[in-house]
This record gives sequence, C-alpha cells and structure tokens, in this order.
Amino acid sequence: MEAAGCRYQFRIALLGDAAVGKTSLLRRYVAGAPGTPAPEPGFDCAPTVGVEFYSRAMQLRAGLRVKLQLWDTAGHERFRCITRSFYRNMVGVLLVFDVTNRKSFEHIQDWHQEVIATQGPNKVIFLLVGHKSDLQSTRCISVQEAEELAASLGIAFLETSAKNNYNVDLVFNTLTDAIQQAL
Ligand code: GDP
Ligand code: MG
Repeated sequence: MEAAGCRYQFRIALLGDAAVGKTSLLRRYVAGAPGTPAPEPGFDCAPTVGVEFYSRAMQLRAGLRVKLQLWDTAGHERFRCITRSFYRNMVGVLLVFDVTNRKSFEHIQDWHQEVIATQGPNKVIFLLVGHKSDLQSTRCISVQEAEELAASLGIAFLETSAKNNYNVDLVFNTLTDAIQQAL
C-alpha cells in the first residue's frame, strides 16, 4: 500500500444501485469545495473495463498522509457485472443507498454479500451511506431503519447529500479512520 509521496494508499469503492448518487458523492468529495469542477477520472488500463477511479490525498489522524484511490462502477452496477478485479485489494467500501428509494435500501445486503464473496485476503471496512438526505419530504427510509440495518451488518451509518455538501468529508474521514485502526 506504499504510494509516492504518501506512506499509504487505500483502495476504496462506492457500491450501490444505479442512480443513488455514488458518482455525485465521489466527485463532490474529490472536488472539495462546492462549485469546484471535479477532476477527470483515471481509468483502469483500458477504458472499456468501465470502471473509473479518482485520487485524493488526505491526512490521517496520526498525521500520516494517505492517498485514497476511489473507485466508481461507472454504470456497470446496473447490470451487476462488476468483475472480480474491481474488488482486488479493496480495503474500504461505501455501501450507498438513496433515502427516497426503498429498492436501493433493500439491495444493500446483496452488495455487502458480493464484496464478502469476492474480497480475498483483505479485511474490508464498510460504511452504510444514506444519500440524498436533502430530500426530506420524499424520503421513505428512516434513520432508525437504516441504523438497524447497519447494526445487523456490524457497520456504521451516516447520511449524506452531495447537493448540500452534507457529511461528504465526514463519510470519507470516518471510513479512512476505521481502515487505519484495522491496519
Ligand atoms: P450513480 O448512478 O449512483 O452514480 O448516481 P449519480 O451520481 O449519477 O446521480 C444520480 C442522480 O441523482 C442525478 O440526477 C444526480 O443529480 C442526483 N443526485 C446525486 N446526489 C444527490 C443529492 O445529494 N441530492 C439530490 N437531491 N440529488 C442527487
Ligand atoms: Mg455513477
């Protein structure tokens, strides 16, 4: 996990149904302040593989610098045709659902299972993310229901909004803290 200029590199993925807001959340985090255009993503060798990643360096609590390599499924989640290589050496996963979309919430356990089934030797740290928290009037998944699911999976839960820039940094900081503690 050594990377140039940084002591560690963490490979992290965002998983969840299509249209829950994974790409928006990722780009918001990588761009930083609202209004900043997101950088162009990198590609995994051949762009036809259909996955993209973004990089961002950050400081861990202990002062160590770490480079996050953040992987996006780039539309392939729609067909559940994510290759095993996508999961290789993954140390963290954000399981993302849309708080206004019950199906996306119900599918979280399937995404969790898929990672468990393909993860290999690495221990993967998960975080459950209820996204689009700005849509309070049309939400159909309560905080309590999401917390119950997170507890049943033994993972933490946070709500986010890319639109309002709510908890965007916190979600990545929380995940990387947990990864660091598990190293
Ligand atoms: P992905 O398929 O999971 O990567 O989802 P996208 O990032 O492409 O977003 C799907 C749709 O949800 C787009 O129309 C986004 O503008 C919208 N969206 C993303 N994040 C938010 C958010 O925080 N709040 C609201 N209201 N809409 C969002
Ligand atoms: Mg996307």
